[in-house]
Amino acid sequence: MTTLLEPKLPEAGLAGNYINGAWHWPANGQTLTIENPSRRVDICAVGRGTATEVDLAVDAARAALPGWRAMAAADRGKLLSELGRRLEENAEEVARVLAAESGNAIKTQSRGEAMGAAGVLKYYGGVAVEQKGETLPLGPGIFSYSTREPHGIVGSIIPWNSPLQLGAVKISMALATGNCLILKAAEDAPLAILKLVELADGLFPPGVFNVVTGFGEDAGAAIANHPGINKVSFTGSSEVGKLIAHSAADRIAKVTLELGGKSPTIVFPDAIENGRLETTAQQVANAMRFARQGQSCTAGSRLFIHKDIWDTLLPKVAEKSAALKVGDALDPDVDMGAVVNAERYGEIRAFVAEAEAQGAEFLIGGTPAEDPAGFTPNPTIITGVDNTWRIAREEVFGPVMVAIPFDSEAEVIEMANDTHYGLAAFIFTHDVSRITRLTRSIDAGWIQVNQGGGQIPGMSYGGTKQSGMGSEYSIEGALEAYTYRKSVTINVEAGE
Ligand code: NAD
Repeated sequence: MTTLLEPKLPEAGLAGNYINGAWHWPANGQTLTIENPSRRVDICAVGRGTATEVDLAVDAARAALPGWRAMAAADRGKLLSELGRRLEENAEEVARVLAAESGNAIKTQSRGEAMGAAGVLKYYGGVAVEQKGETLPLGPGIFSYSTREPHGIVGSIIPWNSPLQLGAVKISMALATGNCLILKAAEDAPLAILKLVELADGLFPPGVFNVVTGFGEDAGAAIANHPGINKVSFTGSSEVGKLIAHSAADRIAKVTLELGGKSPTIVFPDAIENGRLETTAQQVANAMRFARQGQSCTAGSRLFIHKDIWDTLLPKVAEKSAALKVGDALDPDVDMGAVVNAERYGEIRAFVAEAEAQGAEFLIGGTPAEDPAGFTPNPTIITGVDNTWRIAREEVFGPVMVAIPFDSEAEVIEMANDTHYGLAAFIFTHDVSRITRLTRSIDAGWIQVNQGGGQIPGMSYGGTKQSGMGSEYSIEGALEAYTYRKSVTINVEAGE
């Protein structure tokens, strides 16, 4: 362990709760402890917010709303862009905090996430002015138009796997469209968000942007059930997403859900022709998000390989994946860090152990060690799996990919869609007709062809089936989800 790489923790931000433009230690004095999962040591304690802090934040947001929604959209955008600029300037410092708390390697993940989050803030800062309405030509004497109005108070709840990126998305979409926000940071990884809030301190009018740090069952549930919150935007597991949707239904609160996935990666023989074997194998490994320990909602965790290239491609994917250096997320040479906590590690272990007991074979990796020094499982690729097994059907949210051979296009489409998820898909072929048929047939909100990249600001992103509803990362998604249309018809010549 090297002290050189120790992150600079939030200072005022350790209060955990930022309400009405000021840091706020919870009234009950309770804290939650943040652990570094790579080293299994506690980093610090932050204030643990509950329903009391959510109430205070809603009151502050309500008071700030009239001024904020009346501000010119371009001016709101400038503030978001400025926050993006500040984050960019401090990206390395924030990234180190992120790596320490989340376990996501600084080299391959956390540094990129800090820059990506800054990019999201700047994108929405630029497009905030696009909050446009419509007019209808009804003839002389009648003026009919519509505007896009903010819902009012937004409560956003985020997970720990990409907290900064997802936080930036939630902040940008709510604030660009004239809503005030209460953001609940994840209990396992709130520190990078608290660093971001430190950077935002004094930028927005008090009450516009509030943060509560606490557990899901109290602070999160308080947001989901709060009568003063008009819209809930949630990213996390499908189980909790269903609870959120139920709570919101009681008061017809608007809801956006970004949930889990079990995304297919499908590779056809022509994808490795003409010297493309190495790059295709690398992109397939990237799609699996091994470098993020597989803790990505879009992870291409079901690999379908055409039987004609099974023996050629699969060993290459295994070779690329096994080459990742696993270890401490803050080590500058490490490619793949730790999963977030003991509970997640145990769940991943149980999934793999069950598949092993069912007779699965390991191409690389295996059942993770029982009591490791750091929660750092190795990349694991499993074959000999039946599509009905839990490992092939449920979201493992760990570095575990199942590989399954296929014969025909029809067969692979059927297997790919045989899931209640519909978030992402990755297709590898250069046959344009096939690309067109597959992109049309696969149930997924986001399909990438011949690459395994990450979300792109400007490109709408969201899932179908039980992977969610609504979309993020684009101004269109923000307008659909964070505003309502108000139509106005004026009889200009009435009474004349
Ligand atoms: P989770 O659902 O357990 O927790 C997510 C957030 O919800 C946390 O802040 C948690 O405190 C809060 N929460 C928990 N219970 C709650 C309740 N009863 N009421 C209100 N809030 C509650 O998910 P997780 O394990 O932290 O994250 C992993 C999941 O998130 C995976 O399923 C992953 O696929 C999904 N995810 C989806 C996307 C996407 O864009 N679709 C992105 C990242 C992660």
